[in-house]
Amino acid sequence: MTALSMSVVVDVLDHAGYRCQCHGECGGAHSRGNGRCPISSGTRRHRLVVAPANPTLSATAAAHLPASELRAWCTACLLDAERLTRHHAPAAVEPDLFEGNAA
Ligand SMILES: [Zn+2]
Ligand SMILES: [Zn+2]
Repeated sequence: MTALSMSVVVDVLDHAGYRCQCHGECGGAHSRGNGRCPISSGTRRHRLVVAPANPTLSATAAAHLPASELRAWCTACLLDAERLTRHHAPAAVEPDLFEGNAA
């Protein structure tokens, strides 16, 4: 996990009402929760974690984020959102794209 301070974690969870704050970032419609993931910390066998709204940020970067940039996630949504964000992220370097304009 991240090196977030406990007070920030509690802040985020409190603000989230101890419920996963995924609004479909994981790719799921969450129709059961009216568009928001219905999993709360009280849901059996589910655990909430606090992670950046952009789940691909490194743990080191996340440790410096204010509570407003963090979200409560259930582990299932976090893993899926992470995968989706990575997949959609533009490639950092695309040299081929510019080759045609060189001349
Ligand atoms: Zn969730
Ligand atoms: Zn979700």
